[in-house]
Amino acid sequence: MTVRGIVLTQKPLREQDKFIDILTETGVMEILVKGSAKMSSKSGSATQLFAYSEFDISDRHAQNKARILTGVTPIQIFYGLRNSVSLVALASYFAQIVLYSSLPKSSTPELIRLFLNCLHYLSEQNVNAEHDESMIKCIFELRTASLLGFQPDVIMCRKCGEYLPERLYFSIEQGCFWCDTCADKGVLMLSGALQAIRHITLQDFEKIFLFRVADHCRPALYAFAEQFLQYHIDRKFPALDYYKQIKQ
Ligand SMILES: [Zn+2]
Repeated sequence: MTVRGIVLTQKPLREQDKFIDILTETGVMEILVKGSAKMSSKSGSATQLFAYSEFDISDRHAQNKARILTGVTPIQIFYGLRNSVSLVALASYFAQIVLYSSLPKSSTPELIRLFLNCLHYLSEQNVNAEHDESMIKCIFELRTASLLGFQPDVIMCRKCGEYLPERLYFSIEQGCFWCDTCADKGVLMLSGALQAIRHITLQDFEKIFLFRVADHCRPALYAFAEQFLQYHIDRKFPALDYYKQIKQ
């Protein structure tokens, strides 16, 4: 059997063996990589963290029901990630989000494309500065929340129906917003942040990265994205804490 997937985690086993978790179109799969150090360097990089590869796996199972790797071909290796501890931490946070959530099968192909695009942007950020690291994190968090079924209600003020208030309060818990006049709680943000949330959660995937946000709208947008996803998945992410430590 051959499957395409992104390596989410690797757990060293005996000297030269390891388990890896990969995200495939049908969900997360565990694979036993035997004697990884003996393989050619090309195969070695194909099973490293965040590699996107084609995995040949036997239909026999290892002791813990993991599949056994029989061959592997790299499709895309994000070499740019290796130069930065913080980028690896951020990508690990994305991987934990995937591992800790129950993915609807229908959403998995788009989640793979989202993950690959975000890894690409992080890896190439010195070449292409369209979105910085924090914006990539925000896009991943909000779009993944939508894919998991936690779509925020971005249509209008829940009370008076105003479409684009200049100032508004977005509720993490209820996933809806109120204009400045109607609200007294939630994350305070400006209209530019609301428009970004609308774009990231509603736009066709092909256009998801094509938008701009004014700098002064960003802090509230970033805070909302992180808190919203964390609240609705209801898990703590160790990699996120580690990422924040590094950024400080
Ligand atoms: Zn209102």
